[in-house]
Amino acid sequence: EIALVWHRRDLRIDDNPALHEAIAEVGDHGRVVGLFIFDPDILDDGVTEGSKVDFMLGCLRELQANYRRLGSDLLFMYGQPVSSICELAKSINATHVFFNQDVEPFAIKRDRDAKEALQTLGIKVQSFIDIGLIAPDAIATQAGEPYKVYTPFWRNWQSKPKSTPLDAPKQIKGLDHHENLPTIPLPSLRELKFINDITLPKFGEAAALELLTKFCDSNNILRYQTERDLPAHVGTSGLSPHLRFGTVGIRRVWAAAIASEQLIRSEEDQQGVTTWKQELAWREFYQHVLFYFPELATGAYRPQMQNFPWEEDEEKFEAWCEGRTGYPIVDAAMRQLNQTGWMHNRCRMIVASFLTKDLLINWQWGERYFMQKLLDGDLAANNGGWQWSASSGMDPKPLRIFNPASQARKYDPEGEYILQWLPELRGLTTAELLSGNIPPHQCDRRQYARPIVDHNTQQQKFKRLYQECKS
Ligand code: FAD
Repeated sequence: EIALVWHRRDLRIDDNPALHEAIAEVGDHGRVVGLFIFDPDILDDGVTEGSKVDFMLGCLRELQANYRRLGSDLLFMYGQPVSSICELAKSINATHVFFNQDVEPFAIKRDRDAKEALQTLGIKVQSFIDIGLIAPDAIATQAGEPYKVYTPFWRNWQSKPKSTPLDAPKQIKGLDHHENLPTIPLPSLRELKFINDITLPKFGEAAALELLTKFCDSNNILRYQTERDLPAHVGTSGLSPHLRFGTVGIRRVWAAAIASEQLIRSEEDQQGVTTWKQELAWREFYQHVLFYFPELATGAYRPQMQNFPWEEDEEKFEAWCEGRTGYPIVDAAMRQLNQTGWMHNRCRMIVASFLTKDLLINWQWGERYFMQKLLDGDLAANNGGWQWSASSGMDPKPLRIFNPASQARKYDPEGEYILQWLPELRGLTTAELLSGNIPPHQCDRRQYARPIVDHNTQQQKFKRLYQECKS
């Protein structure tokens, strides 16, 4: 028997249900080979940037090396996924195809089509829950409905039993013959017609495990509750690109969080671990709601926000993208995003509030820009974060407006983060940096933007428009 394991956002051999089951199913005499398909519809969607593709290629190179080390191979194809997988399955006489499920609407459709087409060829198809600890449709309110509010979701989610991690295989028996397959060698970034101009973090399984261990085996997880909101500190795990591309399994992550409970010595430690688990649950909450309400992907959830009169101001949008708004905490954050492909969560909330409540620009513009730039860019989490920030999503208390100056004073009290990303502001006093209003002559002398809007005026305008839409 020959099994194909179709990898998509699970670029690892450890804790991988599809791979694990493939090996178990075909038994000692069977063969297992991995496959990754470069889908031109995704690559050419106008949102995917070179940095993300470069990161993914690094992960794929490592995954292929792992397959080869264990005795098999990871094959690559370029093309429409359903016809590609059918073509390969036929040419290697595959008897089974295994993959891990996704929650994004387009992926659900692709997988359904692939399953149908493969079954027509007489190939057995099995898919597994891997994107989260709890399948999106395995959790419901007492009335049997999908959740729309996080807190009751969390209460139910945390009480559900979670699977333990699956060990990496020790051996994978591969195909005897590789000749004349419709596959390609792993393409380079240039061959895929992308360029990347940022320095990437370490990619691959080993790097993900290193981050996880560093975070959970130390005081980092115990101090998470207090440190996680301070963007100048390394107070969060940095695992998000790895969770996005699946270079670490979610069961492995959960097991590490549980193991860290041994280190708990105080109420604060306990709070640290619980809060981190709650963030993992936020990730699954957004997967759950996207699964049940796929319309979230294309517009505001709350009807009153569907016709909000957003201003289509390209110039202000560009200033926001490039970190030239004249609000230091916003600009620092946007430069962190542009230069590293990652942004601290507190800052994601600040810049998203600023775009929507201060610049009155449609959150979908911001959502798209984040998807372009973030290495962890993920439809469920990104859309959830943006709809929350724009007051358009599933939020029982939707009207939140962040004041950038008070956010900076609270979460970057020494201005360390601001100065790290805006070196042109070095030499200003901390009070000036955090005032939200750098004196115009200082802006000009340092070639730093003067504020492009007035926060107080804009927040009043937003509130007025919001009330009008509500009524
Ligand atoms: P940690 O604090 O160590 O948390 C561990 C993991 O939990 C993260 O890696 C992530 O997978 C998950 N997580 C943490 N916070 C959230 C959250 N609020 N929502 C969902 N999952 C969470 N996260 C993404 O992974 N991809 C995105 O595209 C994305 N876009 C966002 C857009 C906006 C406007 C906002 C406000 C938040 C967004 N987030 C997104 C959530 C969050 O900012 C990142 O997950 C987090 O900053 C990643 O850093 P970390 O791995 O160090 O997180």
